[in-house]
Amino acid sequence: MKTTLLTDVSVEDICKGFVYNELEGKGLFGWGGKLTIQPEYQRNYIYADGKKDVAVVRSLMSGYPLGLIYFVKTADGRYEVLDGQQRITSFGRFLTGKLAVKDANGMEQYYDGLADDLKEKVSGAKLTIYVCEGEESEIKEWFKTINIAGVPLNEQELLNAIYSGTFVSAAKEEFSNSQNANVQKWSAYISGSVNRQDFLRTALDWVSKGNIDGYMSKHRFDTNINELKTYFNSVIDWISGVFSDVESEMRGLEWGRLYETYHKTPYDPVEVSKKVQTLLADPYVKNKKGIFEYILGGEQDTRLLDIRIFEENTKRSVYTMQTKTATELGVSNCPLCAMGHEANRTRIWKLTEMDADHVSAWSKGGATDITNCQMLCKTHNRAKGNK
Ligand SMILES: [Zn+2]
Repeated sequence: MKTTLLTDVSVEDICKGFVYNELEGKGLFGWGGKLTIQPEYQRNYIYADGKKDVAVVRSLMSGYPLGLIYFVKTADGRYEVLDGQQRITSFGRFLTGKLAVKDANGMEQYYDGLADDLKEKVSGAKLTIYVCEGEESEIKEWFKTINIAGVPLNEQELLNAIYSGTFVSAAKEEFSNSQNANVQKWSAYISGSVNRQDFLRTALDWVSKGNIDGYMSKHRFDTNINELKTYFNSVIDWISGVFSDVESEMRGLEWGRLYETYHKTPYDPVEVSKKVQTLLADPYVKNKKGIFEYILGGEQDTRLLDIRIFEENTKRSVYTMQTKTATELGVSNCPLCAMGHEANRTRIWKLTEMDADHVSAWSKGGATDITNCQMLCKTHNRAKGNK
């Protein structure tokens, strides 16, 4: 790979022919049409938060350098921004009147309203640009390893870079597009943000059963995302069909896995809804996020709910009472041992050798308090197996 350092290109040069797409929130072209600001492998413009983009402009106004910018020279002699897209978009918006910064008196200042010397300082600022030429694979490998200042690329952004092509473009249009009206619905079940590719990542994770890398590689040159989209929508429709209420605890669950495991099982949404509400209100259920899988699985695996266990002092008082009675009767203080015929029939266990058990199972409405607590030896408690 060959690199050339450019130090004579100014902010004004790059802003010639600057095109900004308001809808997608990204800078598209600049440098008189020679430069593509957001090639496919770049992330969306995420400086438009009124802080970082303003900070870029302030740096220029103060005469501070913006840091290294990387361009890739393409086969047709044009350029693509490899790193620096967000900085370029920030000053491009400022020079074209789409971004204002507050001055010392708190007044909004547009570029056109600046004093001539300040205008000159901003537009005349020279950038430090490395131009890289080489094979696509080399450049992408290198792109993967450069540590980008500011917001580092996350895993999915890197994959988008590595597998850039028609598939990624189409997939981003659907899943990384904040204008997509479905985003709000998806947000009920998926955590993260559109800009940082979290929805795309989730969609790929579901359809590929976790093998995102392999899936992207295989479909890289596909011209449509039909399978991805259909599978994703099937999962979303299934969730909203089974669970009619949207609860905040549903966000970010492993819906892909749950769909694969349970989508062939019939559920009554009315019953499901009642169960969800009951469990959400149950003070003994510590892991509310586990409620959904617990219900899908036929309410068998109480470990998913992390049921609140008995307090230490509850266990101690129950142990003391049981041991006193057992000693008087000459039987084991584990009621199940006491009923047996083995050597342990008269054994008095130590507190540390016993575990607390729900007399009436939690899953059948038994409470986690002293009235429903009995101490069993560890073997019997494990054998009883309920929570
Ligand atoms: Zn026992």
